[in-house]
Amino acid sequence: MARKVVIVGAGVVGLGCASYLQRMGAEVTMIDRVAPGMSTSYGNAGGIATTMVLPLAMPGLFKKYVNYYLDPEGPVSLRWSHMPAMLPFLWQFLRNCRPERVKHCTEALAAFMPPAYEAWKPLFADAKLEHLVGGGGGLWIYADDAALQKDWPFWQGRRDSGLAFHALNEDELRQMEPAVGRDWKAGVLEEDWHWVRNPYKISAGLAKVVGERGGTILEENVLDFDKGPDGKLRAVITDKGRHDCDDVLICAGAWSDKLAKKLGSKVPMESQRGYHVMLPNAGVETRHLIAVGSAKIAINTMDEGVRIVGASAFPGIDAPPDWRQAKMVLNWGKRVLPDLNTEGMTEWFGERPLTPDSLPVLGRSPHFKNAYYAFGHSHMGLTTGAVTGKLMAQQIMGQTPDIDLSPFRIDRAYS
Ligand SMILES: Cc1cc2nc3c(=O)[nH]c(=O)nc-3n(C[C@H](O)[C@H](O)[C@H](O)COP(=O)(O)OP(=O)(O)OC[C@H]3O[C@@H](n4cnc5c(N)ncnc54)[C@H](O)[C@@H]3O)c2cc1C
Repeated sequence: MARKVVIVGAGVVGLGCASYLQRMGAEVTMIDRVAPGMSTSYGNAGGIATTMVLPLAMPGLFKKYVNYYLDPEGPVSLRWSHMPAMLPFLWQFLRNCRPERVKHCTEALAAFMPPAYEAWKPLFADAKLEHLVGGGGGLWIYADDAALQKDWPFWQGRRDSGLAFHALNEDELRQMEPAVGRDWKAGVLEEDWHWVRNPYKISAGLAKVVGERGGTILEENVLDFDKGPDGKLRAVITDKGRHDCDDVLICAGAWSDKLAKKLGSKVPMESQRGYHVMLPNAGVETRHLIAVGSAKIAINTMDEGVRIVGASAFPGIDAPPDWRQAKMVLNWGKRVLPDLNTEGMTEWFGERPLTPDSLPVLGRSPHFKNAYYAFGHSHMGLTTGAVTGKLMAQQIMGQTPDIDLSPFRIDRAYS
């Protein structure tokens, strides 16, 4: 009989896992309180950015973040009443700025991320989603050459990891992206990036195939687990009933720490809230996924208009949205694309699941033999949804995962 795996969370990570588990012969049930792909996976920038192997915590980060915070147009915002709850995370995050930790995390990400696009290809083909996927690369833009030079340690880190990129002068940048304003005079092209034209449709398309292949997708709220005396989970308990299982896989994005806690594992995690504005009548188009490192925004032309994403807000996951952040994202977008038309604009926010070491949590629970985790993909859940699915399916189905999962285990030292 097929192994019955219950997956909690039907975002892009859960869907990547369900797709690969089905390919390896498992019977899957996905449980989410909202429809597939309607949470954080809905509104991201659409980048499949396989070269993002440097962790967020780097030497010099503290000073950089203080400057971002003090700048009224800066991307970082905090809610002071949330600070006491956030301090343990912050402490561990800062400890990851030490060079030996940066090296450790970069090595782990350099094994995990580069195969990420290859892992997507069979899933995109099966779900007939290839028309929503583009190539041509990611383009980082800078005010001038001096600004690019200031960012050079970031690029050197990429180079040290064996990743290729090309620095561009003003003319080259202009030819590649005619819509970008004259205030931007230097750039870097990362040819290996791909992007999708609609992240929600990617999730919805994957969910359709999961259903067609016999998977069950339920809209229920997971409350707890039925724990057997043999160190195994017997069932997942929701607001609507119980679902028996051979294995449980938690892919609940920024809410996963709450469920892990019920299974005896404490994970230092924060939601790094981001916003997007969607411009259906933008009147301009971009040819690459454009990233502005200094403002932490990205711009992508989607099938329904131009999307600008950004903001790095830490208000606590249950705090109401602060739409001034979306306005800030829009203002930066206008600086990049001066001819942008904002008629019909819509706004959105989502919760990036952030760990202090920028590594996702992947692998088996140390407390329950048949419980597994795949969450904490921060800025990169779309990029790595499929490779995560492949690795987790390999582990759950008793195969040797393609890479060593020990740096990602839930009971690791996070700093
Ligand atoms: C502004 C922004 C831009 C981004 N841009 C990019 C990008 O260009 N490229 C990239 O790779 N990544 C990007 N990301 C990150 C990416 O969107 C996330 O890493 C990814 O969506 C996480 O997927 P997930 O499946 O883990 O989480 P989610 O999509 O949040 O899915 C988790 C699901 O679990 C469900 N859930 C939680 N708790 C329960 C419960 N108790 N019971 C039932 N269901 C539950 C939730 O309802 C949710 O649907 C961006 C994120 C933001 C916010």
